[in-house]
Amino acid sequence: MGTLTEEINCLQCGGKAFKETYKTNEIYEYCPICGYAKEVSRLKKNEKIEDLELDGWVIYKIEGITQKLRITQGTGTIKFAMKNGRSQVLPFNGNVTKEHMPQYIKYLHNSKFDTNRCYITLWDRKENRLEVVFGNTSD
Ligand SMILES: [Zn+2]
Repeated sequence: MGTLTEEINCLQCGGKAFKETYKTNEIYEYCPICGYAKEVSRLKKNEKIEDLELDGWVIYKIEGITQKLRITQGTGTIKFAMKNGRSQVLPFNGNVTKEHMPQYIKYLHNSKFDTNRCYITLWDRKENRLEVVFGNTSD
């Protein structure tokens, strides 16, 4: 597929994150622990700059090529590890708070999940640090 995946240290939480570089020079960095993401790609012909800017993208030109960049601050993630070995990490949006945690934790105790491999994190914006709410992020 022409994709190179490297392990990097997350710029936000310092955890183990990933950087994918595509043949088309698009870059996607993401952290499954805090949810930080950085996307860089070429502006496509059908994309409107105003729409992209509303969506948080920064547009810039480098060597005559118009590129777009978007950084998403991590607000926490939830990892669903299935009993069949598969797993998925979903970043929270900024509206999820500590008050929601008991219901998420309860949900991870469903019999279809391998609860020991699941985790939940929240980014503490005041303290500027990661809080592991449930489980263990270093497997
Ligand atoms: Zn991170």
